[in-house]
Amino acid sequence: EGINFDAYEDIPVESKGREVPPPVSSFFEMDLGSHLELNIKQCGYKLPTPVQKHAMPIIMAGRDLMACAQTGSGKTAAFCLPIIAGIHKGQDGFRGRRGARSGAASPVALIICPTRELVSQIHDEVKKYANRTTVRVAVAYGGVPIYQQLRSLQEGVDILVATPGRLVDLIDRAKVSLQNVKYLTLDEADRMLDMGFEPQIRKIIEETDMPPSRNRQTMLFSATFPSEIKRLAADFLSNYVYLTVGKVGS
Ligand code: ADP
Ligand code: MG
Repeated sequence: EGINFDAYEDIPVESKGREVPPPVSSFFEMDLGSHLELNIKQCGYKLPTPVQKHAMPIIMAGRDLMACAQTGSGKTAAFCLPIIAGIHKGQDGFRGRRGARSGAASPVALIICPTRELVSQIHDEVKKYANRTTVRVAVAYGGVPIYQQLRSLQEGVDILVATPGRLVDLIDRAKVSLQNVKYLTLDEADRMLDMGFEPQIRKIIEETDMPPSRNRQTMLFSATFPSEIKRLAADFLSNYVYLTVGKVGS
């Protein structure tokens, strides 16, 4: 439970890329907005973790990101907080599309991760961080009947957290459209490739590109950085920042 900040004192951080936005030393330097700031306080987070210090300003600046950091380093908040802040700001006077006419839900943010358990964990965190905002979150994962997920999708969704298999199923049934996805996050990308999800992941990313637009911001998170992940980054990220926090294997 929680994070041992002492273990991070001289953690090596490496970042590469053009004009990398500098790290912050506090959550309150970033203009996350008063709702999120209050939610962070209520979570009991005093300081951002190293990956949060570096990754959050990069995401807030709208840049693509390839980030490697070990388990337990606070990656979920590192990508969720900037996404929620971005959607919340963009929503002044705007309600996310319900997709009622086309029958398909149309999230603005998509978070893909390998397992149902991880979907639930990320869902729980998003709910805490998005408290007091109008940002709506829904989940989709396999191994359970689909109808309940369909119903919550139909109510309208801004952030969809999903496993690759169930998401492809929903796309094939025309229940989810990825045409409005502005924020795409792949969490535990190495694990998803190990589980054989590369074809589904490529299909999903291509769906967010139909019609092709420069509108998508893409974040890839991984504990390791093997050549398959490097290929994904090369294929789907643009002008991205490459960030490693701590020692990272390949
Ligand atoms: P990772 O995805 O890198 O393995 P998580 O995002 O699951 O790690 O975070 C691990 C734990 O640390 C979670 O329980 C989370 O609530 C907590 N946490 C995240 N950021 C902070 C912070 N800045 N201060 C204290 N605890 C934090
Ligand atoms: Mg994680």
